[in-house]
Amino acid sequence: MEILKIEHLSKIYGQGETAVKALDDVSFSVKKGEFIAIIGPSGSGKSTLLHLLGGVDRPTSGKVLVDNTDIYQLDETQLAIFRRRQIGLIYQFYNLIPVLTVEENITLPLLLDEQQVDKKQLAELVSILNLENRLTHLPNQLSGGQQQRVSIGRALISRPALMLADEPTGNLDSKNSREIIDLLKMFNKNYKQTLIVITHDERIALQADRVIAIEDGRIAKDEVIRP
Ligand code: ADP
Ligand code: ADP
Repeated sequence: MEILKIEHLSKIYGQGETAVKALDDVSFSVKKGEFIAIIGPSGSGKSTLLHLLGGVDRPTSGKVLVDNTDIYQLDETQLAIFRRRQIGLIYQFYNLIPVLTVEENITLPLLLDEQQVDKKQLAELVSILNLENRLTHLPNQLSGGQQQRVSIGRALISRPALMLADEPTGNLDSKNSREIIDLLKMFNKNYKQTLIVITHDERIALQADRVIAIEDGRIAKDEVIRP
């Protein structure tokens, strides 16, 4: 079953003389539960692609269908709701809110969506992330690995269909990197949450089911490693 269809997606930043074509007619489909690594040189359009898959930005042309919903046909309010429920975004530098506690950071997407926090579900997630003893801490009281686990909690509290991670281990040592990737893989395998990870780390790319290489805003290679 296809969870994601990308059709002729292009993105141009700016206008006229200074316009930059960041994505150039990209099309591909993703099966539910797939783990995809996106690789490619700096500036090739990887982050632009990930943001467009997550409904964070709007394309210049082309479509993104998530579960058959054409997300850029949605208005801003509907798109924001879609993002909070179906997309879990994970960044290199965590992007946590410094004045909120760990628990508040994790539950924020539910609160913004006026949804009740399911205490049992929260406790389970926090336990998987090994953050039980950190719930009242602020982000700056945590290690990098812990902060990234909080950001995974925030990304996954709504049990989104898609987990999108932009260099999630780019700021971590190898032990913490392995831990973070193992966690993302666990959610991917156990709960069939589709995982798309931008990475420069070949060891991570080799664990994916499929590797897509982006060059100059186009797909240079699309290889299934594990069918
Ligand atoms: P990557 O993630 O592969 O490093 P990006 O998607 O960040 O690549 O960038 C692709 C191209 O688009 C680059 O030339 C970059 O400078 C440009 N770009 C990215 N974001 C913006 C922006 N907000 N405004 C203008 N140009 C941008
Ligand atoms: P419950 O709410 O009673 O836990 P669910 O049907 O929601 O029941 O989930 C069944 C089990 O699978 C639970 O242990 C739940 O935590 C887990 N689960 C299902 N989907 C996810 C998910 N995306 N992330 C974390 N745990 C999940």
